[in-house]
Amino acid sequence: MRSCTKCLETKPESEFYTNRRRRDRLCVWCKVCTRAHVGRRAETPRIYVTWLIQRAKTRSRREGLPFDEDLAADDVGVPQTCPLLGNPLDYSAPVSLHRPYNLPTLDRVVPELGYVRGNVWIVSWRANKLKSNGTLDEFKRMVANWPDYGKLEV
Ligand SMILES: [Zn+2]
Repeated sequence: MRSCTKCLETKPESEFYTNRRRRDRLCVWCKVCTRAHVGRRAETPRIYVTWLIQRAKTRSRREGLPFDEDLAADDVGVPQTCPLLGNPLDYSAPVSLHRPYNLPTLDRVVPELGYVRGNVWIVSWRANKLKSNGTLDEFKRMVANWPDYGKLEV
């Protein structure tokens, strides 16, 4: 048996999702509380974006990247579609395991400028992955040369 730190009820361990990051391999919240929390994330994408910003803050401190201390969801925006690829953004997509295509992620337009206002927006995980650390100029040159690339495949 295990007690949930959210609802404080004691339940069998089968009522808790696994969490590989924890030593006991189980979530501290029960399945009912976890599902309710994820459901709420879909209803209020702004809370999810705020969570992404909080995570980015920790990451930028570790990597020594610039970060606007008062950066908020309103500065970043909460789009319904990916501004780069046009795919719908799924604010209820699970974050763990494999990254879903439509998962909203926080992207730095110019990575080395860090998480500062005007340099951060929400794009799909797929767009973020494709973009990686590439620049607009590099992508333009790639697109321009793409037909030639096809000719190399003989
Ligand atoms: Zn619970």
